[in-house]
Amino acid sequence: MPSKASYDRLWMPFTCHEDTLEHPPPVIERGSGIYLYDTEGKAYIDATGSWWTSIFGHCNTEITRAVHNQLDKIEHVLMAGFVSEPALELSELLGKMLPSPLSRIFYSDDGSTSVEVALKIALQYHAIRNSNRTSFVALGGGYHGDTLGAMSVGDIPVFHALFHDRFKKQHYSDPPYCYRCPVGKEPQSCSAQCMDSLQNILEQHGSEIAACIFEPMVQGAVGMRIYPSKVLKRIFRLCREHNIITIADEVAMGLGRTGKMFACDHADEVPDLMCLSKGLTGGYLPLAVTAVKENIYSEFRGDFLSDKTFQHGHTFTGNPLAATAGCAALKLILDKHLPYSASATMEQFASRLHSLEKFDHVGNVRNLGFVGAFDLVKDKNSKEKFPSETRIPFKVAQRALEHGLAIRPLGDTVYYMPPYTVTSEELEEIFSITQRALGEVLNETATS
Ligand SMILES: *Cc1c(COP(=O)(O)O)cnc(C)c1O
Repeated sequence: MPSKASYDRLWMPFTCHEDTLEHPPPVIERGSGIYLYDTEGKAYIDATGSWWTSIFGHCNTEITRAVHNQLDKIEHVLMAGFVSEPALELSELLGKMLPSPLSRIFYSDDGSTSVEVALKIALQYHAIRNSNRTSFVALGGGYHGDTLGAMSVGDIPVFHALFHDRFKKQHYSDPPYCYRCPVGKEPQSCSAQCMDSLQNILEQHGSEIAACIFEPMVQGAVGMRIYPSKVLKRIFRLCREHNIITIADEVAMGLGRTGKMFACDHADEVPDLMCLSKGLTGGYLPLAVTAVKENIYSEFRGDFLSDKTFQHGHTFTGNPLAATAGCAALKLILDKHLPYSASATMEQFASRLHSLEKFDHVGNVRNLGFVGAFDLVKDKNSKEKFPSETRIPFKVAQRALEHGLAIRPLGDTVYYMPPYTVTSEELEEIFSITQRALGEVLNETATS
C-alpha cells in the first residue's frame, strides 16, 4: 500500500493540481466487469469505460486468459526484420472486419501516434507523387491527440490554443455543433450547411491540402458532440470532388461504439485512412492501428534505392501481448455479433438517458449507440451556460463518485461510455445514481 506522500510524485494528466489535493483520487486496486474497487474495498461503476477503452468490462475472462498464455510464449519482439504471430493474426482479423479496400495495417501505440502515422503517410504519399500538398484541413472542435502533429489538426482552445500559436496552424472548418449550430440551422431540417466552410476552404486551398481529418459522427473530447450522417456524407463528397485524402479518426468511435462497427458506416463511406485505438485491446494494453487503402500503400512500394520507404516505427510497434489482447477483443466482438446484438441494451440506455430531461438544468440530451451525454445549462430555453466557476458538472461527477458511480465531466457535458456488455441492472444503477447526484447538486446550487 503506497503512502499518502507518494501522491506528491505524480503529475496527473488533464488534472488541475489543486483538485488532486482537495479531492484525492480513489486508488483502484482491482476491477471486475463494469466495477472498479479501491483499496478500501469501495465499488464504483466505471460508466466511462476507463477513458472509453473498456468495451468488455474489466478482467474479462477470455482476454485475460489469452494474455496469460501469450506471457508464457514471448512478451516482445521488434517488428522490423521480425514479426510475431499475434501481430499477424490481428492484421488478418482487422482485414476481415474493415471495409475493403482498407486493407493495410500499420501498428503504433496509442491514438495520437495512429494520427501522426496517418498525417505522415498522407504527406509522404503526395511527396512521392511530387505534388505540393503539404497542409491539412480539419473540423472545428476536433480532437486527435496530444502530440504536436495531432494537436495541429485539433481545434479545442483549452487544449490547443497555446500550441497553435507556436506551431504550424492548419485549416479548420466550422464545427458540426448541432446544439449551437454555427450557421443557425436545425439538425432535423438542415442540409449540412456547416460544411459550406469546408467547401470554401477546399475551393481556396484545395490544391495545397494533403488530407482532411475528422472524427466521424461524434466529436468526443470537445464534449461528445453528435452530428448527423448527412454532415459526414457531405465531408466525404467534398473531399472526393477535390481529390483530398480522407482520414477518419475512429480512435474513440470505431469498433462498435456508435452502434455500427465503424462510425463511417453511418454514411456508407470508406475513408482512405482510418485510425483505431481505444477499445482495440478491450482496454488491456496500449495499441493503435492506422488502416490504409491498398492504392495508397502501393505508392510506397519500391526497391531499396527508391526512397519510398515509410521511415516510421515505435519501439513497441506490434507488441505481441497487446496484439494478443487485440485478437481476443476482436474475436469477442465477432463471436457476439457486436454491436448489433446489443440493440436492446442500447435502446434502454437511450431511454434512461433521455429520462434525465425532466431536470430543469439538463439540456442537449443525446446518444448514438453506446455514447450518451447531456449538458448542464443554466437555462434550457436560451441554452445559457452556467458560469464556469460554478463547476456544476464537476460537482455532479464528484457527488456521483461518492455514491459509487465513476463519470467524468467534459466542460458543460457529462457523458457515458459503458462497456458493450453492460446489463440492464447496471444501466438502472448508473442512472439512479446520476439522478441522485443531479438532484442533490442542483438543489444545493438553487438554495446557496
Ligand atoms: C483519445 C483520442 C485520440 C488520442 O488517443 P491517445 O491514445 O490518448 O493518444 C485521438 N483521437 C480521438 C478521436 C480520440 O478520442
